[in-house]
Formats: sequence, structure tokens, C-alpha cells
Amino acid sequence: MKKALSFHEIMPNDVWKWKSMECQLEQVLELYNYEEIRLSVLQDYNILYKGITALLDREEAREITGQLINLSHPDEDVSLLSLRPEGTINVLNHVVARLGTDKIHRIFYHGPMFRKDANHKPVEFYQLGVELLGSDSILSENEVIGLGMQICHQLGLKDAWLDINSFGCNTCRPVFFEAMRKFLDEHKKQFCTECYEALYRNPFHNAECLEESCLHSIQQGPRIQDHLCPKCKDNFNRVKKIQANLANNYKVNHHIIKNFSYYNETVFDFVVQTNGHATVVGGGGRYDFLSNQITGKQIPAVGFYLNLDVIYSILTARGLFHEPSPTFRVYICSQSEELEIMQLQTVQELHDSNISTIISSDLKDTDAETKLARQNGCQAMVILRSENIREGKVLLKNLVKEKQSYIALSELLPEIELIRKAVQ
Ligand SMILES: [Zn+2]
Ligand SMILES: [Zn+2]
Repeated sequence: MKKALSFHEIMPNDVWKWKSMECQLEQVLELYNYEEIRLSVLQDYNILYKGITALLDREEAREITGQLINLSHPDEDVSLLSLRPEGTINVLNHVVARLGTDKIHRIFYHGPMFRKDANHKPVEFYQLGVELLGSDSILSENEVIGLGMQICHQLGLKDAWLDINSFGCNTCRPVFFEAMRKFLDEHKKQFCTECYEALYRNPFHNAECLEESCLHSIQQGPRIQDHLCPKCKDNFNRVKKIQANLANNYKVNHHIIKNFSYYNETVFDFVVQTNGHATVVGGGGRYDFLSNQITGKQIPAVGFYLNLDVIYSILTARGLFHEPSPTFRVYICSQSEELEIMQLQTVQELHDSNISTIISSDLKDTDAETKLARQNGCQAMVILRSENIREGKVLLKNLVKEKQSYIALSELLPEIELIRKAVQ
């Protein structure tokens, strides 16, 4: 059998969990005054290419752009489109072209992103993206890191901690790269060809290599922390101090992995413990030079993503989704022909009082209707019959107290309100 593609098909039974997650994270974003931006799922390949390959060498760029899912078009005038693999590049474009670069922007977005996995299979994943554009202050990156931690805590991941490191600046990064290449040359035999070449191209590369000797050698290799310039070192120490004071646990991770390597200085991951393993649920960093590559304008920026699929499965495994209390709902059925208009008018009247309803679509006997009303979680039901209507009455059943009575049409709404009050 062909293996199913990894696309989201979220059934009604699970949608409330996604909504509760989205609602909680939006509440925290609102507290920090972040504004939502809604991005197209389709993006211009050429712009993406420029952004993704910024600060990469050609070989590594090919590896990363190979993850894009492109839609070819026979018409050469139409630029090649890709399914969005992330949102940062797009946001930078909109800020420069439409929102202006003269002030600080706090922006978030969430929704499906698309990439090819290691086996070239297309994968859809839900992601939250948060960007603070227009400030290079230490305060701004600590705001963003603190915000990410607060969202994790709000969602119930109380044990989340930070893995942090610095990728240095244009002054100290080349010094580290040189030290790494010197180390690689001296220890070439201890690495497999793949790791050697990948690390030579990008010393931040962290191959998921299973060879003991590679892993061991990487651990023994030079660390950027030992090569940071005084300014980067000072900034990094301030980040650690501020996060410690905010009671956010952190570990310095010398081998932090970043998929899109356009970061400089502070980089971080949000991590939780699952089944004895450290699981990265999101992360980000500062990317002061990316906008220049894409738009020609320098905008200092810092941002992060949260992988909502990973968070969703952790929250599910930990039993952290709490089903909301059932909505008060009234079942409306008719047992005579030609009462459709009355049935729908009754429904409208209840909706005007913010009472939820379920409309029975067919004529059925009372027992069958009552059973359906219960199955649908209704606490009350209204039965319309011609012979009652002629006397100006309807049958109202209280399904919680197992009581029923014929009441005047004008009394229907107040009686239903009484049942609602009693059950809530
Ligand atoms: Zn530096
Ligand atoms: Zn290796």
C-alpha cells in the first residue's frame, strides 16, 4: 500500500484542541502587542531563494533549496511559485514594501508550512512564527525569547528550557570558521567524508551522523564561545543573565542546529523532555543581515518559530487538553408536514438569544428524536406538532430532568432560558 502523505486532515473531534492551543498562544502575543499578519501559502521562488541562500555557500544552498516544494508553470512569464517553507523572508518583504522601516514591528503568523523531508516526500507542518523587526537591542531579543518561553508555559509546557548559543558577528565568526577548518584538516581521519565536507563548508553544520568517531570529534572541536569578540561575548553574557533573572532555565548548547543559517549572535531553541529525550519544540535567533540580502535594506531583527505539530503531540501525550464544558443546545424537531417555516423561525429566535440549536431534518417519532437529541448532547428539545400549534402550544422536554410540558408559544424562550440557567 502506498504510504499516506503527511498532510493535515484535522477532524471535528480534534479541531477544538487546535483552537484552544491557538487561542492561548494568541492571548500571550496580545499581551506583548504582537500583530497578526496573514501570508499567502504560495510564494515567489526567486525571493525565497535569495533569502534562504543568504549567507550560505553554493553546495549548502543546494541542499536547503532542495527542500522547497515548487510548482512549475509552462508559461515562462510567470515566476516560479513555491509552497511557503517558512514566513520570515515573506514578512521582511512586506515590511519593506508596505509597512515601512521607520518603526519597530512586532508580527506573528501561524498556519501550514511545506517542505520536502529527507526522503524527498512533501510534508506539511503547522508553525507559529514571531518576528520583532527594527531593533538590535539586547532588550528586544530578550523580549522575544521571554515571549517564546511564556507561550510554552501558557500551553502547559512548564518544564521548557532554553538551549542558547551565539553565532558571533562578522568580526569573530570568521576567526571561529578558520579555527574549525584548521581542526578539520588536523583531524581529517576522524571524520566521515560527509561530515568533513559539510563542516568545512559550514562549521555550524550539525550532521545527524551516527558514526561514533564523528560525534566524538565534533565534541572535541573548537567552540565559537572561545572565539567570540568582546562585544559578542558581553551580549551573550547579558542574555544569560537576563533569562536567568526571568527564571527561564537555560543551557549553553555548543552544537545548536539551525536549518536556515541566516542567524548572527544569539541563537536559541525551546526544549522539553519527552520519553527521556530532549525534544526541540521551536527556536530562533537574531538575523540582522537577512533583510539586506532580500530587500537591500538593513533591518535588525530577531524571531522564533514554534512547531505546533510537535507541541500538539506532546500536549496530547501529557493529557493537557481539557475538553471545554458542553454547550447548552436545544434540539428542534417537527412531527407534522409543512412546519418547516415555524421550525426555522423558532431556531432564529433561539439564536437571537445566543442559544445553540440542532435542527432535525426529517419527520421521526418522538422516541427516535429524543434518542438523537441525547446523542447530540442537547439538554432540551422542542417538538412541533400541528395539533398543538393550533392551540398555540409546543411540547418542551427538559432532557436533564426528564420532564416535559406543553407550553404557550410566547413562553417558549423564557422556559428554555430557565433550563439553561439550571444546567449551567
Ligand atoms: Zn563578534
Ligand atoms: Zn560523520
